Amino acid sequence: MPSTYTDDFERSLEIGESAFSSLIQDTIPAWPEMYEVMYAYESGGNIDVSSAIDDLKKINPQLNSEDIAKIHDDLLSNNKMMDISEDIGSKINVEIRNIIGVMNAAGEKSDECDNALRKIETKFASVNTPEQLHSVVEILSNITRAMADNNHNLNSKLKQTTQQIDVLHKDLDTARYESNTDSLTNLANRKKFDSEMRRSINDIQKNGTDLTLLIADIDHFKKFNDTWGHQTGDQILKLVAQILKNELKGADFPARYGGEEFAVILPNTNKNDAFTVAEQIREAIAAKELFKRSTGENLGRLTVSIGIAQAAPDDIPATLIERSDKALYRAKDTGRDRCEIAPDPMMEQVQDIAV
Ligand code: GH3
Ligand code: MG
Ligand code: MG
Repeated sequence: MPSTYTDDFERSLEIGESAFSSLIQDTIPAWPEMYEVMYAYESGGNIDVSSAIDDLKKINPQLNSEDIAKIHDDLLSNNKMMDISEDIGSKINVEIRNIIGVMNAAGEKSDECDNALRKIETKFASVNTPEQLHSVVEILSNITRAMADNNHNLNSKLKQTTQQIDVLHKDLDTARYESNTDSLTNLANRKKFDSEMRRSINDIQKNGTDLTLLIADIDHFKKFNDTWGHQTGDQILKLVAQILKNELKGADFPARYGGEEFAVILPNTNKNDAFTVAEQIREAIAAKELFKRSTGENLGRLTVSIGIAQAAPDDIPATLIERSDKALYRAKDTGRDRCEIAPDPMMEQVQDIAV
């Protein structure tokens, strides 16, 4: 699985050392989970982890193991989804046991009625007087009522259980949605993007269709955050996500790829058509004059740079992402607020050879 982190060897060692120093300083055990949280914090690559730890430090500069473990659980672990699934699984088991219990009880009740009916059959044979007939009919009516009550109880318990199972289904859908969704922008998160990429690349290898990937990165976003604050920055990320959704259609698949980076998978689209889509996105973002609602302050305009790469038949997700990334960096290097198409892999090899 590709790492979430892209720091090179030297930088990763520096970050790792800072992470260890923090663990030692606050006497937190260097378990992999604790280290991962501190690595994410020291690298600054996970804004949610950074703000969670900064918030803790505001209350008490010394961090403690429980808080760090909770941050791991909430923000870095996949266990949450597994816990939720297990919880829902065990609730479904309880409901199934309930149904079996209700069915068994109803079965026993119905056997009792059956036996009572058999007995009454023999009683009918010996009826001689209207009084006897009256009492037999009364017994019969009681049995019938008991059967009707039994059915009614069974029915309402089954209804209750069905409702309970519907709630569990909805819980499971919500958990699945949350585990695949970026909570800030409501776009697909990196995990979902990775699985969608694998699926899309498999598809083109089977069907020979086109597939193009866009990676968009907001220009000078650090400066924007430094000037207007992180919360305003977060609102901008939501706005960019909304613009992406507005500009895309059908099977196009937008995702939050990382901090201020977005990826869009465009199935059945070649690089030239993808360029048109990318330009529309770029223009739609650049066209927006941004204002802070609460104060009316003019925040100016933001731009994005976009790298575009069309999948080749022997691509794997990592190679296609790498080409889009390279194109993105060319867009940055050549002035930003631009879209750049990556050369096809064959062309790249040719360009790499000097004669
Ligand atoms: P460039 O044009 O080269 O992309 O410059 P940049 O400043 O956008 O790039 P850089 O990688 O230096 O900084 C990215 C910034 O994005 C830093 C970080 O504060 C910000 N960022 C990342 N994730 C979030 C987030 O979830 N919320 C906010 N508000 N800012 C974020
Ligand atoms: Mg970036
Ligand atoms: Mg950027």
